[in-house]
Amino acid sequence: MELDFNKQDGLIPAIIQDALTDKVLMLGYMNQESLEKTEKEGVVTFFSRSKQRLWTKGETSDNFLHVVEILKDCDDDTLLIKVNPAGPTCHTGADTCFNESNQGKAAWLNHLKRVIRDRKNNPSEKSYTASLFQKGTNKIAQKVGEEAVELVIEAMDNNDTLFKEEASDLLFHYLVLLEQRGIDFDEIIDVLRARHK
Ligand code: AMP
Ligand code: ZN
Ligand code: ZN
Ligand code: ZN
Repeated sequence: MELDFNKQDGLIPAIIQDALTDKVLMLGYMNQESLEKTEKEGVVTFFSRSKQRLWTKGETSDNFLHVVEILKDCDDDTLLIKVNPAGPTCHTGADTCFNESNQGKAAWLNHLKRVIRDRKNNPSEKSYTASLFQKGTNKIAQKVGEEAVELVIEAMDNNDTLFKEEASDLLFHYLVLLEQRGIDFDEIIDVLRARHK
């Protein structure tokens, strides 16, 4: 990756963003060597201005930042690094250095979506999800219908545990159906948003 290290004494800022939640976790500085190490090893290494040496985030805490994607800005002097954090990012124990929570649960759907896609593309014998894809669209759609009916039944009862189980079954099979039809969940969000105008 070509970057303009000369502008700022050999150091460029790197914004660290959670790849799933989009939360900004921290900001650090990188020199050429730390960027190369980061690209090579897949975990974020900064150049620490206070330590005056390469610093792999997590080297003592094990709270490594696993690289998902590295982007550079319009004029090549700032990095945006999307990561999966292994734990809380701040040395205070907070999720982010800006003392924000990073527990956005809806974002976990993105993870589930990726797992479902992976089961479709790399099927294994043991995977229930892969077996659904093998049976095809009609069977998957039928399962969505069955889970919807089960949810309706539980809705009429007062057992929250069973209601939540069936709501989860429905959402899971719904995501499988979207994947089977080649429609991303984000496209559903777009439709809902457009209606809201
Ligand atoms: P770690 O890299 O997580 O093993 O932490 C090692 C040391 O780096 C800590 O004791 C802090 O001095 C510093 N440190 C860790 N995380 C951060 C952070 N997010 N921002 C600034 N300094 C940090
Ligand atoms: Zn810039
Ligand atoms: Zn911090
Ligand atoms: Zn069910």
